[in-house]
Amino acid sequence: MIIVMKRDAGQDQIDHIVEKITEWGLTANVSRGEETNVIGVIGDESVIRTKPLEVFPGVESVMPVLKPYKLASTEFHPDPTVITIPAVKDGEKDVVLGGSDVVVIAGPCSVESREVLLETAHDVKKRGATILRGGAFKPRTSPYAFQGLGVEGLRLLAEAREEAGIPIITEVMDTRDVEMVAEFADVLQVGARNMQNFNLLKAIGRSGIPVMIKRGLSSTLKELLMSAEYVMSQGNGNVLLCERGIRTFETMTRNTVDISAVPAIKGESHLPVAVDPSHGTGHRDYIVPVARAAVAAGADAIMVEVHPRPEEALCDGPQALLPEEFGGTVNELRAVAKAVGRGL
Ligand code: PEP
Ligand code: MN
Repeated sequence: MIIVMKRDAGQDQIDHIVEKITEWGLTANVSRGEETNVIGVIGDESVIRTKPLEVFPGVESVMPVLKPYKLASTEFHPDPTVITIPAVKDGEKDVVLGGSDVVVIAGPCSVESREVLLETAHDVKKRGATILRGGAFKPRTSPYAFQGLGVEGLRLLAEAREEAGIPIITEVMDTRDVEMVAEFADVLQVGARNMQNFNLLKAIGRSGIPVMIKRGLSSTLKELLMSAEYVMSQGNGNVLLCERGIRTFETMTRNTVDISAVPAIKGESHLPVAVDPSHGTGHRDYIVPVARAAVAAGADAIMVEVHPRPEEALCDGPQALLPEEFGGTVNELRAVAKAVGRGL
């Protein structure tokens, strides 16, 4: 931490700060300049972060030297995090997130019925998806919209997982449900609207189950990394971060996909990154070009919504690919992955 003093700060004000820093068990180094003086603080930065140094008399500004997301940052963990989802049954492969291969996650927005889910599970698996998505608890803007099948949806996901031999990711919305959802899911999902539900993040951290955290509608990448830090601070390092579009003034797309989030997160963090062009764009026709861009930018996973009859979907039909379109999408992504030195 570096404390920059005001030009007119007196020696008594510097002494007062040095005294406090020493009292907190840290070391202060005063550097005297022609224009102003700075105090370098050496020791556990987390101690000093809790102190309101800005309000001390004579202080101009306070600059942290280390990132506030210590566990998520490459500063302390330079090697990329690789999350391994064990194969769900014999004959299947483990799924590796953050490794050399790009992972494709696909499935309906929500679990609507046994028939649609099983059909989609077999279909997306056959065409190259290695994780099945589907929401049993749905965060809907309107309380009158379909809210998901709840526990019954989880049971159907478990059946699809077993039948198709594919791991599943599903959203958990409530802290009280974490343990229960974790019994069914291979990967938990924290939705955009819950990205800063800190109690939920802590509970997921304690569960130890891999989690994908989606970027909040209006959240900065720093805030997203701090959400990862919440999970990691409880001992769960299996965190996948997901760019799913943010809110901007643009209305032609549902959200604005921030492709630069991929290299930006990768520059700051060792955690794997996913991109969701379905929620990102809201339009089936834009999914493929945006997914291609995401893979080219270095995404470790792509999440897309797929529905056999989007016109009948209870949620997000306009942004769902048909299974055959999904197959074509995977082939296109495979070519892009190859061009950037990755497999799929
Ligand atoms: C979802 O993936 O099912 C979802 C609701 O997405 P988001 O939280 O990004 O809106
Ligand atoms: Mn959806």
